[in-house]
Amino acid sequence: MAKKKILLLYTGGTIGMVRSEKGYVPDGQSFRETLEAIPDLHYPESPDWELLSFSPLLDSCDIAVNEWNQMGRAIAENYAAYDGFVVLHGTDTMAYSASALSYMLENLDKPVIFTGAQIPLCELRSDGRSNIVNALALAASGRVREVGLYFDGKLLRGNRSTKRSSDQLAAFESPNAPCLAEAGIRMRFFPVPGSPEPEGPFRLQELEEQPVGVLKIFPGIQFEIFEPILTEKLRGVVLEAFGSGNIPSARSSLLHIIDKAYRSGTVITVCSQCVQGEVSLGTYATSQALRRIGAVDGHDMTTEAALTKLIYLFSKGLDQEQVKFQMGRDLRGELTE
Ligand code: ASP
Repeated sequence: MAKKKILLLYTGGTIGMVRSEKGYVPDGQSFRETLEAIPDLHYPESPDWELLSFSPLLDSCDIAVNEWNQMGRAIAENYAAYDGFVVLHGTDTMAYSASALSYMLENLDKPVIFTGAQIPLCELRSDGRSNIVNALALAASGRVREVGLYFDGKLLRGNRSTKRSSDQLAAFESPNAPCLAEAGIRMRFFPVPGSPEPEGPFRLQELEEQPVGVLKIFPGIQFEIFEPILTEKLRGVVLEAFGSGNIPSARSSLLHIIDKAYRSGTVITVCSQCVQGEVSLGTYATSQALRRIGAVDGHDMTTEAALTKLIYLFSKGLDQEQVKFQMGRDLRGELTE
């Protein structure tokens, strides 16, 4: 059987960083040699792979819409020539990028697997080696035809993942959806509800910068301070509410502001500050009012998935009502309806 061909997109991140006087910085020169020196990437059963390095290489804290477009274009331009794609990326914003790409790569029918490392490849005990080798194997298996995020033995759905630890090797979790696969002695794949099915030919939807934001509710929040931002500046807001979507009710100013924001065209999506579980607007009196004034129930979406979805939907040119409708629907397995 012909060997599978995988394109490795190297965007930067700890995995390829080297020590410098300023701390760890991405390095392109040594990265190719470091990769070439990993024996597992040259076994007869390893897929063929090619490396495409981005310029400049970035700490993922500097990755946003432009770089998501750059990744999307690299995949779209090489879509026919490769069986799958592995995106090497910093861990800090990997869940945002994986979520964004899951929407942008419309009718995706090939694996796109994000991975990275907590310890650079140039250091002893780097987790990068096994993350790359497994991500490549998963991409070559062709079993998961969506955007995934592989880390520490688990393949998560990209738009369900969130970074959970800054110092453990298990840096990511998928609190509201089971993992897509586990890399144990064997690769085990699990059928996960909501796997997106292509409905037409693959296409890339590029994104545009959008005035969107995240507001985390906290006890004693003075909503008035946020009024101009919510009502005049933003087109979309992810409201990180308490528990199942609750907000303080004693100070009613938020409701007034949200009402005003909605009437001036802002789409407000309510997600939960709880890592696990879902929003259910209307369960408590403190959340019912939110629904009444037009806020969207974000169900069990992560903030990463909700924020990038807003950017995607606005970039498609949808109006407020259409964005509101789509925000509450499952597009790529990012929420349980
Ligand atoms: N700051 C780094 C980055 O996100 C952290 C990492 O890669 O783990 O690029």
